[in-house]
Amino acid sequence: MKFAKLADYYEKLEATSKRLELVDILSKLFAEAENAEIGKICYLIQGRVAPFYMPVELGMAESMVAQAIAKAYDKTKDEVIKSYRHLGNIGLAAQELAKSHKASANLSVSDVFGGLRKIADLGGEGSVEKKISTLAQILKDLDSVSVKHVVNIPIGTLRLGIGDPTVMDALSLAKTGDKKLRPVIEDAYNKTSDLGYVAEEFFKHGEKGLETVKLIVGKPVRPALAERMPNADEVVKRMGDKFAAEPKFDGFRVQIHLDRSVKAMPLGTAVSELRPGLKLGADSQQVKIFSRNLEDMTHSFPDLAEGVLKEVKAKSVIMEGEAIAYNPQTEEFLPFQETTKRRRKYKIEETAKALPLACFAFDILYLDGKDITSKTEVERRKLLERVVSKNNQVIRIAEHRVISTAKQIHEFFNEAISDGLEGLMIKKLDSPYKAGGRGFHWIKFKRASSGDLTDTVDCVLLGIYTGRGKRTEFGVGGLLVGIYNDKTDEFETISRIGTGLTDEEFRKVNEIGKQLRVEHKPARVKSKIEPSYWVEPEEVLEIYADEITKSPIHTAGWDEKTGTGYALRFPRLVKFREKDKRAEDATTVEELKRLFANQYGKK
Ligand code: ATP
Repeated sequence: MKFAKLADYYEKLEATSKRLELVDILSKLFAEAENAEIGKICYLIQGRVAPFYMPVELGMAESMVAQAIAKAYDKTKDEVIKSYRHLGNIGLAAQELAKSHKASANLSVSDVFGGLRKIADLGGEGSVEKKISTLAQILKDLDSVSVKHVVNIPIGTLRLGIGDPTVMDALSLAKTGDKKLRPVIEDAYNKTSDLGYVAEEFFKHGEKGLETVKLIVGKPVRPALAERMPNADEVVKRMGDKFAAEPKFDGFRVQIHLDRSVKAMPLGTAVSELRPGLKLGADSQQVKIFSRNLEDMTHSFPDLAEGVLKEVKAKSVIMEGEAIAYNPQTEEFLPFQETTKRRRKYKIEETAKALPLACFAFDILYLDGKDITSKTEVERRKLLERVVSKNNQVIRIAEHRVISTAKQIHEFFNEAISDGLEGLMIKKLDSPYKAGGRGFHWIKFKRASSGDLTDTVDCVLLGIYTGRGKRTEFGVGGLLVGIYNDKTDEFETISRIGTGLTDEEFRKVNEIGKQLRVEHKPARVKSKIEPSYWVEPEEVLEIYADEITKSPIHTAGWDEKTGTGYALRFPRLVKFREKDKRAEDATTVEELKRLFANQYGKK
């Protein structure tokens, strides 16, 4: 497919904010594409050249892109910037200049994708110049509409508002004429976190191709997630005779991948031909460590990586655990505020020494060449105990008790709390590992004071109200936040928050607002109210509220019959999630409905 054709589709996608139309347009695009291009198109429509978990960045700031535009059309950088200021958008500025230039070629989707990947791979001395000239050459060989969109990719501003569920619906629609294969596609996606790869398998080998997708060491697995229940009696009712209970560690989740048979782990990109030769720096060895939102964090945790190599008894493994700052002498867990200092990307060795981490392994998904997610909790735990010994220092095993009564839950819960932990995780004994799913196979049981909600709500920042009075100094007087509807791939509003933030936090919101500000309501946002300005839904905030109520002004879980949605009463900010959750990982409408129901089930 010529890139110009793809650019036509970009135009159509940009022109609508209706999800059904987005799905329809995308499916037509997929139907027109060659099988070998499907993966690349999946990345490109989300403004990327690799699956999101890969740290493949083009490394070009806006001013470098402006230089590339100048070079392509024989202008000065100042002329480009002037036109950009005038038109308000770098894409429009590039398009204007390209109009009076005759394209020297008509590049294909694969050509542009390859060129952009080349830019990402360029590093070291002289790479700035090389990146600029590579982009300039791509621009010269494209028509003006294509140029308008391509220049937004390096700087991360190609925002068509297309989430993963929309892509999955469209893939099914393109191939079968309806959306019925979405769950099968989603299953394969949950195992590999790579939509491009899944799309390619699907288009090449049909539904069968999807069913044979297994876990791959090096590709993160979308994590299994826990449900909530109002009290221990309900938990027992739900779980049956016997169930497992483990401490709920208050650190951060890590997914560990190990393959001892390779020198450097194959990074398994989606697009088959790109598999070899991807340069990722010194840390792409035999161990990879992914965060809760599947970001590659290996680099930040050299102590954990070393612990895996030394202590884990397996040739290849994918397992999960909670990393927490821990003092082995006193057997003391450090508070979350301490642990989280390890998530930084600088002064790594120094911080690792000052705050050594232990990982408490709680699940195993893959062992010595085999995907074991379909084995039961009991079977997986046995294998985990074989691989992670009780005497380990760094990769430790989480305590695990098989119990059966509410009384035992309370006893263990109180022990966990007095050890400085967050509560318990209760696990169903006969359940497989449910990649990418929240369900009652795991129930989180946290401390909650009576009368309050059983959990905090992870909200997405959707808009900002600029300040009045004293607040003008921060630029922010309030926030509009929402939750995620994973059925419709939309963000629905749930609360305005105007109090309970410190000055420091208001300033931080202002900074975030400046970076994410957009001129119009983003395509995936459903709202009845208008903030002073909208932001791209990216930032996740953990919110605590007294109660969930119903309100006619918020769209979360909107009920036509009563004309109300859900709202939070007396919301306050607990913390910024600091990018450990993507917007799509925020609390979902379905979860909120259950939290709402729990309010009344709690004694
Ligand atoms: P979630 O990850 O469910 O979206 P969250 O990040 O806000 O939500 P919680 O809801 O508090 O976290 O609890 C789930 C998290 O608890 C898991 O993602 C994991 O990081 C952590 N955890 C701690 N101990 C365990 C354990 N023993 N088994 C499973 N998860 C555990």
